[in-house]
Amino acid sequence: MSVTILQARQVLTGGDRPPILNGGVRVRGSKIVAVGRADDIREREDEVLDFGEATLLPGLVECHEHLSGHDRYAIGDPSVVEPPMMYALVGVYHTRRLVRIGVTTARIPGAPGHIDLMIRRAIREGYLLGPKMVCAGELIVMTGGHGSMWGAEVDGPWEAKKAARAQLKAGADFVKIVASGGVGITREGELPSQPELSVVEMAAAAEAVHSADRRITAHADGVPGISNALEAGVDCIEHGIYLNADHAKFMADNGVAMVPTLSTMQGIYHHGIEYGMPETWIPIAEAILEPHLESFRHALEAGVHFAAGTDGFGDIVDEMIIFTTFGIDNYRAIQSATRDAALVISPRPDFGVLEKGKAADIIAVDGDPLDDLNVLRSVQFVMIDGEVLVSGGSVREE
Ligand SMILES: [Zn+2]
Repeated sequence: MSVTILQARQVLTGGDRPPILNGGVRVRGSKIVAVGRADDIREREDEVLDFGEATLLPGLVECHEHLSGHDRYAIGDPSVVEPPMMYALVGVYHTRRLVRIGVTTARIPGAPGHIDLMIRRAIREGYLLGPKMVCAGELIVMTGGHGSMWGAEVDGPWEAKKAARAQLKAGADFVKIVASGGVGITREGELPSQPELSVVEMAAAAEAVHSADRRITAHADGVPGISNALEAGVDCIEHGIYLNADHAKFMADNGVAMVPTLSTMQGIYHHGIEYGMPETWIPIAEAILEPHLESFRHALEAGVHFAAGTDGFGDIVDEMIIFTTFGIDNYRAIQSATRDAALVISPRPDFGVLEKGKAADIIAVDGDPLDDLNVLRSVQFVMIDGEVLVSGGSVREE
């Protein structure tokens, strides 16, 4: 099998190693076989891909992506629900977009009609070009709850358990439940602060998911919703808008992760009208901006494991930049979208860092993201499992 060495001025592994200057990543088939100084690891017969002044780093891992962008297919206003077929076609567009921006693994916490599972299959079977996908199938939600027009509606623990099992049966990698209302409201009078599925309902779903050695995550915005989800035993909190210091301590102590999606809420506030959202949603988004930042501060102070996710209305680079406004450095922000995001997906991921034995999921960006994270917007090259999908900034045609 031929071996390729990717070399560049700098390699960031995403792990604990300091930046490697004049670094190289050696790839055989779908795996990384060596990482180090290019001169030290290159062998004579290697095919050389030289990226000059660029930086090589792990492919980005996006932890909250619905394959719906931020237009009418994402808004979630029950009056603009479309047939699952349209969501699938739109999703196909977004898989390609994700690859172009350097996302090599996308975690999909809920999509209508199992389109995520079908798109994942079509990618695996070679019909579509896209990132590796980790899918939740349909989100599990109370009758009339947040996102219920796309979700599996349940009431009572038995229905919750059955719906969780149904997602796993259909091929979901993890399960998403809805513990509170949200910003994009499904019904008149809904607020992010309102609890939705109860502790017993979520605990029943969690038991089914954990019995299958899978993870369960909760959309949880308000205090009672977050408390209920944590009591029910979820592995991760999405958004966590009103997360308080007690929640944060519990999460840090119990290994519960957080995907705050900070850029999402700012995106809704600043661009919601342009995206076509009802005007009534904007004050809801405005009201949660400050508490959401406060909640992330609690999480950071307590040492909660966190990762980057965009939920359609945010942006993965913006998300990393917002993280740095809390005083963390650019490298740790990059880790939130590489290694740490992979750890939200799996306890022992084979991706997310450039290390011997891991999947060859590698991107090259122009310049140095340790100086300016914005260079992550100019992705020149993307390799997934050893296969080149983007080169010279363009996505491969087939
Ligand atoms: Zn979401």
